[in-house]
Amino acid sequence: MFTPEKWYPIALVLLVLTAWPLAAHAGPEGLERAKKVIAAHEKTVKPLEIAAAEAWWVANISGKDADFTKKEAAQNKIDEALSNKETFAEIKAVKALRDKGEIEDKLVARMIDLLHLMYLEKQVDPELLKKITAKANEVEKKFNVFRANVDGKELSDSEVRKVLKTSSDSKARQAVWEASKKVGADVAGDLKELVKLRNEMATKLGFKNYHQLQLFLNEQNGDELIKLFDELDTLTKEPFAKAKAEVDEKLAKNCGVKVEELMPWHVHDPFFQESPAVFDVNLDEPFSKADILKLCKDFYAGVGLPIDTVLARSDLYEKKGKSPHAFCTDINREGDVRVLANIVNNEYWMGTMLHELGHAVYSSKNIPQTVPYILRSEAHILTTEGVAMQFERFSKSRAWIEKMGIKVEKPEAFDIAAEKVRKNQLLIFSRWCQVMLRFEKSMYENPDQDLNKLWWDLVEKYQMLKRPADRNAPDYASKIHIVSAPVYYHNYMMGQLFASQVHATIAKEVYNGADPQTVIYIGEKKVGEFMKKKIFEPGRTLDWRDLTKFATGRELSAKDFAADFGAK
Ligand SMILES: [Zn+2]
Repeated sequence: MFTPEKWYPIALVLLVLTAWPLAAHAGPEGLERAKKVIAAHEKTVKPLEIAAAEAWWVANISGKDADFTKKEAAQNKIDEALSNKETFAEIKAVKALRDKGEIEDKLVARMIDLLHLMYLEKQVDPELLKKITAKANEVEKKFNVFRANVDGKELSDSEVRKVLKTSSDSKARQAVWEASKKVGADVAGDLKELVKLRNEMATKLGFKNYHQLQLFLNEQNGDELIKLFDELDTLTKEPFAKAKAEVDEKLAKNCGVKVEELMPWHVHDPFFQESPAVFDVNLDEPFSKADILKLCKDFYAGVGLPIDTVLARSDLYEKKGKSPHAFCTDINREGDVRVLANIVNNEYWMGTMLHELGHAVYSSKNIPQTVPYILRSEAHILTTEGVAMQFERFSKSRAWIEKMGIKVEKPEAFDIAAEKVRKNQLLIFSRWCQVMLRFEKSMYENPDQDLNKLWWDLVEKYQMLKRPADRNAPDYASKIHIVSAPVYYHNYMMGQLFASQVHATIAKEVYNGADPQTVIYIGEKKVGEFMKKKIFEPGRTLDWRDLTKFATGRELSAKDFAADFGAK
């Protein structure tokens, strides 16, 4: 087990032990070793991380194969460093000292915990990892080439969506829906193999299954998540049923069927994860002539979180080859923060820009340089998604739009529509997340069970859709995220809960107990101060649980989210 250079500290401890009581000197020895591990990691991995972030940025802007190859190579170098066996052995040894309470310095202890997780993830048998990657790629390829086939005619994904969004012919909808699910049957066998390979990897690392491993690596725990999602279920069941009844009535009317005859193919997307567009809504109108960039600048400066340096480095409009999506990246954790976007004058891009800039203010722009490099980022993916969503929601608030100086032509109609879209989207999405979390957990716990049945049991219970009679098909396998973004979905939902809870706390503390629905932040520097002090500045020194308690005085719960979306 021990390499020669590791004998030195052990010999030192033995020497010290003969002369001094244990408690007095075990600490500094652990601390020195920990500091050495941390310094070595920073020296090796920090330049690699900066290079990878830069390569990622370049590739997404140019879209060129050569740039993507460079991006992959940069990522591989990080993986190589983190899979180093000797480094991991030393981290494990230091982590054991930390677990015995021998590292009193809290920041050092926290860094050791995080390094342990980062390196643990990469301690996989390379042969097994190759098999997993190959299997996942094989499945993704099948997804890429799959086309729904209806009566000998191939339909692209967007053609499928178009039928589900617009057709009033139930038979046609059913045919397209069923055809789109066939990819599930194509990949179900491979997916089962993939799940078993992932489980094998987890068992080798000492975990029961891959779900448990992934949660552990992200400082989460399955039982705790289920408890939180049970609470969310209880609080959203009624408002969801109410919203769905209203949507159902419109869906049924559009297709000339009775509400009781509605089937999963009557909603507007293949999984009922989005709100069907059944209300006559135009949220884009106020933004059709607005300067979205200026609105963002003014808003963020007004709350005391200016973003000019971010915008100066960003790439914000459409161009050839460029990624059509949006993201924010902190290149060096020294304030070089950039946003990639493709701004168009509509509500979607107003919301998206508020979202990405929410990530941007929660970065090394506002996490002080005194926080060590390893801890100088968001506490967790769910907290940064939460902050982004907290700001994003304003694009659907008439009060916010008007106070930002934009005229809303039909204010009442806008209010009703925006409120409905906002509520329905989040309620429907929350029920879909219930299905995803519970399905994945159960699938990794027992991949040999009847997964077809498990899926529809969950869809019926949480999304309240009707199972097609006699349907026995692997419909779960037609959702690509189960293959390519495993055990991740719950973080989006938890981000929403975090957003609501932080917003409610701001209403209480900054606005002296005002109704959260009326709080829109504009021009209030105290909001920025709150966000900085309570959320940004701790960086990763606190884990997501402690940060939530530090910022809001409570554990993460579904209560404020439910209150925001119609439950009391
Ligand atoms: Zn985001």
